[in-house]
Amino acid sequence: MPIVTSIKGRIIFNSRGDEGIEVDVISDDKYLGRACSPSGASVGKHEVINFKENSAEKSLQEFNKNLSRFIGIESEDPYSIHEVLKSIDNSENYSNLGGSVAYAISVASLDSASKALEVPLFQLLNNSGNYKFPFPLGNVIGGGSHAGPGTPDIQEFLICPIGARSIVDAIKINLAVHRQVRNILESIDKKFTYGRGDEGAWAPNIDNDKAIEILEKAILDLGYTVGKEVAIGIDFASSSFWNELKQNYEYKRQGLIRTSEEQIEFVNNLISKYKIIYAEDPVHEEDFESMSVITAKNPACIITGDDMLVTNQNRVRQSQEFRACSGAILKINQAGSVFDAINFANECNRNKIKIITSHRSGESVDSHISEIAIATNSKMLKAGIVGGERISKLNQLIRLNEYDLIKGMVEVF
Ligand code: PEP
Ligand code: MG
Repeated sequence: MPIVTSIKGRIIFNSRGDEGIEVDVISDDKYLGRACSPSGASVGKHEVINFKENSAEKSLQEFNKNLSRFIGIESEDPYSIHEVLKSIDNSENYSNLGGSVAYAISVASLDSASKALEVPLFQLLNNSGNYKFPFPLGNVIGGGSHAGPGTPDIQEFLICPIGARSIVDAIKINLAVHRQVRNILESIDKKFTYGRGDEGAWAPNIDNDKAIEILEKAILDLGYTVGKEVAIGIDFASSSFWNELKQNYEYKRQGLIRTSEEQIEFVNNLISKYKIIYAEDPVHEEDFESMSVITAKNPACIITGDDMLVTNQNRVRQSQEFRACSGAILKINQAGSVFDAINFANECNRNKIKIITSHRSGESVDSHISEIAIATNSKMLKAGIVGGERISKLNQLIRLNEYDLIKGMVEVF
């Protein structure tokens, strides 16, 4: 069994220019594993704390004080890493150490073990022998917290190539739709700058209704049928425009207000009009009840909790009292360590809630989430479409395609 022999942490910068913690773990004095924590812009209220007292420096100092406690443990064992983390920081939300450290040490350690044992990371976490590729879920038009004024209030207009039978075809389809959307945007706005938001999605000066119309048109222009070869998804990220005081949804850029009931109706109508197969955070993070109304009404659409579930096993349990979600976003850094995230995935799999492993809006080229998606039987991998830090995850899927162990994609989406 590979043993952790040395560790080094450092502060580096992510795709948005924000700080992240990178950790190097060396096993058996020679196998280097490395991971870098990502960061979010639309952050769930119940996520773990990113850095101790909001400072990457303080998180790193706390980590450095405790490095020796990780030396000598088995690098392939997420539970042992987690136990050491908890002995340093026993808070509920990693407020003493920072979730970034928990993320980076736990992923880097597995990366190191994977190299030492010459076993892919997904197999270290899941030895079932039954692996499938997740469908890549890609962000095409962006707004909300990921793009500037003039863009849609809704955060992400997404696509999923549900008719693709190979991972390479799936990636190509997403790239083609992304390109075609640019062509359309250029044809309707001669001054379109090709500007893109934090995740590489186009950031045009249009409203929510226009964004989805353009996305539908791009899919049709390429000869696909919406909902057949390519389907539409939306991440509303609606907590970001929920006004708690006024108890309504403020679509400020579009100049609209919706009550909770109107929001439910709006979402239900969009799902049926555009045959949407994926709707993330359509209502704000505390509203399990409205979420369950949308879930019950739309069995063919994966109604997904991101800010609502925050990769937290207890939040899944609470949401299950309402049967609120049929899908769950898995972001390791919302949970803290890999062990926390695996507990969450197990809870979702037990409850038949579909898992969507996801990037954050601030990312590095770190591509471990591609393997986490396979290990957790994720239905989709939400990783963007273009941009170095997005394409790195997709290219990792192409490399993993060389393992005979992974038997293609699920037959029917
Ligand atoms: C999201 O909301 O799904 C997302 C990836 O954004 P962020 O990382 O900003 O939370
Ligand atoms: Mg989200």
